[in-house]
Amino acid sequence: MNSKTVIIGAGPIGMTMAAKLAIKNEQFLVLEQGNRVGSNVLEWGHVHLFTPLHAVVDTDVDALLTKHFLKYKLKNIVQRSTTFITGQELVDDYLQPLSELPLLQDSITLGARVIDIQYTDHQFTITYEKEGTPHQVHSQAVIDASGNWGHYNQVVTAATDQIEHSIADVEIEKQLPAYSSVAVIGNGHSAMNSLKSLVKLQAAQPSLAIHWLVRNNAKFNNVAHSNSKKLEDTVQGYVTEKLVQLHEHFAIQQSQPQGNSYVLTAANGTTLEVDKIFANTGCHPDYSLLTNIDIQLDAEFQCPTALKTKIDPEVNSSCQISYDLEDLHVTDIPYYVIGMKSFGKMPNFFLKNCYHITERLSEKIVAMSS
Ligand SMILES: Cc1cc2nc3c(=O)[nH]c(=O)nc-3n(C[C@H](O)[C@H](O)[C@H](O)COP(=O)(O)OP(=O)(O)OC[C@H]3O[C@@H](n4cnc5c(N)ncnc54)[C@H](O)[C@@H]3O)c2cc1C
Repeated sequence: MNSKTVIIGAGPIGMTMAAKLAIKNEQFLVLEQGNRVGSNVLEWGHVHLFTPLHAVVDTDVDALLTKHFLKYKLKNIVQRSTTFITGQELVDDYLQPLSELPLLQDSITLGARVIDIQYTDHQFTITYEKEGTPHQVHSQAVIDASGNWGHYNQVVTAATDQIEHSIADVEIEKQLPAYSSVAVIGNGHSAMNSLKSLVKLQAAQPSLAIHWLVRNNAKFNNVAHSNSKKLEDTVQGYVTEKLVQLHEHFAIQQSQPQGNSYVLTAANGTTLEVDKIFANTGCHPDYSLLTNIDIQLDAEFQCPTALKTKIDPEVNSSCQISYDLEDLHVTDIPYYVIGMKSFGKMPNFFLKNCYHITERLSEKIVAMSS
């Protein structure tokens, strides 16, 4: 099979990329490992996005859905700067309808996990697995929008039933056998969302002890945005009210199973015994799919080197990060990494800042001779 462009991943960025190419009558194929578009987003579907609706949707996609999808729910929301949807709504009301538009639907293959990408004689060979069978497609360009979710930064090795990397969901936790103490590891918004869910669980199970472990000091000013500030204030309130016990400077050095629980030991010798662990310590990109393609990345952030200085939170802690397609350069061949994956280990990727990249890249693809 041949396709001029292959897009890996049908998340918000892969789907926006697909829409931009479709609008320009460009041929493409989206390969998505999940059985639904937005399947990484569905992993945290219960979480509210902290950027408002107008900063979540792409203008062209929004116009496309408004024009062609009669039941497009988001079109009726007027207060877009004060509406915050969940991950589930982002998929159900935005990505799913987009994938069903005739302009796109035949160009998306679900349940197709890319396992290898090679480049020889100006042509990519992409191998993917669908229902246990390997398939190949050849293309001139590859757009890697496969995200980072699932490639978790490991801070603790533990038996898999004791450690979760997902964001705690009170509805799921209520169904499970009750545990008496839980540790949430991490200092970002994912950890804070876990704490929020676990405090709700604590309301139903008052004996539940919630421990929050951070490597340095807890930060309550991660991103300058009103809804994230609200989350940070809520969590700070939990600590003040002692619903959550904060353990600062708890750099985990060792984790030992002990019966049904786990003993975590910090570098300073402090120990803590818990029944369950939510390790919300971020993700990193996985480039193991590339067989004979060399890319240049910043060694520390694992992002394109030109992007590093623009996204370093020490330099820019706002939601407004301005960068361009050239900043994403990782190789001279037409392999492009966009979306969450392009930010490497950095947690400050925002959809709105990336939509112009999908437009620029679609123009570049159109300009490539077929
Ligand atoms: C809890 C949470 C809250 C967030 N809130 C916001 C917010 O409020 N505002 C904001 O702007 N951003 C937010 N983000 C950041 C970011 O916008 C999202 O992570 C977004 O989903 C990134 O989109 P993406 O398309 O780059 O990657 P993803 O959504 O991760 O999509 C990647 C897709 O690629 C597929 N895939 C992966 N590997 C393969 C493979 N080998 N073969 C085929 N398919 C593959 C996956 O199944 C997935 O569907 C949030 C992130 C998280 C985790």
